[in-house]
Amino acid sequence: MKITFLGTGTSQGVPVIGCACEVCQSLDYRDKRLRSSVHIEIDGVSLVIDTGPDFRQQMLREKIQNLDAVLFTHSHKDHTAGLDDVRAYNFRNDKDMPLYGTADVLKQLKTEFYYAFSGDPYPGIPKLSLHEISPDKSFLFNNIRITPLPVWHMKLPVLGFRIGDFTYITDANQIPAETLQKISESKVLVLNALQIKKQYFSFQFR
Ligand SMILES: [Zn+2]
Ligand SMILES: [Zn+2]
Repeated sequence: MKITFLGTGTSQGVPVIGCACEVCQSLDYRDKRLRSSVHIEIDGVSLVIDTGPDFRQQMLREKIQNLDAVLFTHSHKDHTAGLDDVRAYNFRNDKDMPLYGTADVLKQLKTEFYYAFSGDPYPGIPKLSLHEISPDKSFLFNNIRITPLPVWHMKLPVLGFRIGDFTYITDANQIPAETLQKISESKVLVLNALQIKKQYFSFQFR
């Protein structure tokens, strides 16, 4: 398995447009962060988690020639806004791009990228196939087992994903006990860490 971090930034990315702070003005490469996304290559299958606004730039930077599917953690724009650009892979491979997400996330994608679902085969629109996943059930994609990991971002349910020994969780400020069990014995855990103080408030999982 090969993991490539495509972006590890905040929702606005770093630097922030118009910001004069020390971090945003820094020349250190660690202060240049695109929106959160990760590329996973496993058994010849190429996956990304989320397609934020920097998706095109990330695919170009990493020279990703082939993409087999997209897994969505949640529907916030900084995780979905770049979806239109998967059409490059539609044209390359002459097939629809499978998208995996919960019913809520797929509904949101259908609203925001309505033109791709209008039934009008206008040339150049992305070709997307929707695959609903349950937060509580693992599923197979090309024989690769993927386990969704429900976490909370305040009141918003978000999914992390575990593939083999690799676990990826973004945008979480509360991890339920059931999910902690599913993560246990991962060899690599990627977890968001925005700031030391509590973000807004801690949401009690019920
Ligand atoms: Zn700044
Ligand atoms: Zn979010």
